[in-house]
Amino acid sequence: MKVHEGSYVNGAWQPVTTAESVAVVNPATEEVIAHVAAGSAQDVDAAVRAARAAFPDWAATPPARRAARIAALRDAVAARADEIAATVTAELGAPPKLAQAVHVGLPVAVAGSYAELLATYPFEEKVGNSTVLMEPVGVVGAITPWNYPLHQIVAKVVPALAAGCTVVLKPAENTPLTALLFAQAVHESGLPAGVFNMVTGLGPVAGQALVEHEGVDMVSFTGSTAVGRRVGALAGGAVKRVALELGGKSASVLLPGADVAAAVRGSLANALSNSGQRCSALTRVLVHRDRYEEAVAVAAEALAGYVPGERLGPLVSAAQRDRVVGYIEKGIAEGARLVTGGPTPPLARGFYVSPTLFADVTPEMTIAQEEIFGPVVVFLRYEDEEDALRIANGTDYGLAGAVWGEPEAATAFARRMEAGQIDVNGGRFNALAPFGGYKRSGIGRELGAHGLTEYLHTKSLQF
Ligand code: NAD
Repeated sequence: MKVHEGSYVNGAWQPVTTAESVAVVNPATEEVIAHVAAGSAQDVDAAVRAARAAFPDWAATPPARRAARIAALRDAVAARADEIAATVTAELGAPPKLAQAVHVGLPVAVAGSYAELLATYPFEEKVGNSTVLMEPVGVVGAITPWNYPLHQIVAKVVPALAAGCTVVLKPAENTPLTALLFAQAVHESGLPAGVFNMVTGLGPVAGQALVEHEGVDMVSFTGSTAVGRRVGALAGGAVKRVALELGGKSASVLLPGADVAAAVRGSLANALSNSGQRCSALTRVLVHRDRYEEAVAVAAEALAGYVPGERLGPLVSAAQRDRVVGYIEKGIAEGARLVTGGPTPPLARGFYVSPTLFADVTPEMTIAQEEIFGPVVVFLRYEDEEDALRIANGTDYGLAGAVWGEPEAATAFARRMEAGQIDVNGGRFNALAPFGGYKRSGIGRELGAHGLTEYLHTKSLQF
């Protein structure tokens, strides 16, 4: 099987300096479908040098011209929509409808939003006797996870380019084929050579080399909290700017005024989308003790509709499947009530896990505290609103949340939750609203105007 070149540097595909490669596995069939080159520190160095060389001209390019290039990039990605969706299905296992609508649709919309934002974004403002200039931070090292292979790339690369930064991307090793298509789209969009560069490969090798490289001014990382800590410590040691989008354990709180059926179905749809491989998944459902059994019954019925191999895709890898099954076994061992699902594989082939519901879960249980990253939802019982708030805020994470109930009470509750984005009564995802975490869920924000400012310095001129 041919090894795909994974190093796109200075506007051209380059062979990497190692003979190493990463195997890409289709998680629905367990078959190896491709090999992609694994770059070394030397390859990362070449990419960073190209990004540094391209920085002055790109930073000086007027925003309207940067917007035109970003619009062209959006169009080049959209033109490859079918190919990208099929690739996301092949390497991540996303069901085809989800792949089209979310894995391709969302990044196309996000890229378009930055082309539009550049038309009006004020890169200068007056503050008393000062003029404040917003200037690009420099060379950005972007490191992305596999769960939304294209969205995670676009949510970093496009605002960085919009700000006037140049970029070196190290995409996730499980889903490099989507990243190769993105680089191809960059090539077709006519972005000047060296403005976007990419090196595929392993996190501890190519990823770490990128974080440590002296020519990188900022690291933008999305992934696990464990790796994020390390990346943050390295960047902090070098006094580099860092943005971290990490894990979550988000709560969906059904206040006494909630429509229980709608709230449970809405929470499950959120928690099980992408096979539960979502950092912002609403995996803890909190219900008042008077409505608890009713909510669990609705959930059990709704979960029957998430048929593995149809509506529910596999997990990305055998390792992730094993990790999730381990959490299910731990939930049983710690005394939670297994309502549906469980550790037994639902299909003979593929890294599938049954949609799993635990009831009688208490806040200190492992399955109520740690991120599982699979189709597993836990239901907790609360006594009153203060108890619900304590449980909702009682984890190390603070990425997202949801509240359901009478609108005023639900909004007041949402204001007291420690999380970066909270959906009130099923409020829809907004690709222009800032996305990011409180507490151990991260530092910084992505998307919209807030996502752009991450990549900007301020400079004040006094008159
Ligand atoms: P991961 O931390 O294992 O890997 C993420 C990226 O970091 C990959 O590209 C990997 O190659 C790289 N990496 C690994 N070790 C590295 C090192 N030592 N130095 C530099 N880079 C390194 O995470 P994952 O398994 O790919 O993704 C799942 C995690 O991502 C989950 O915890 C999830 O919550 C989190 N996530 C967060 C968000 C968010 O926006 N907050 C979004 C999606 C996923």
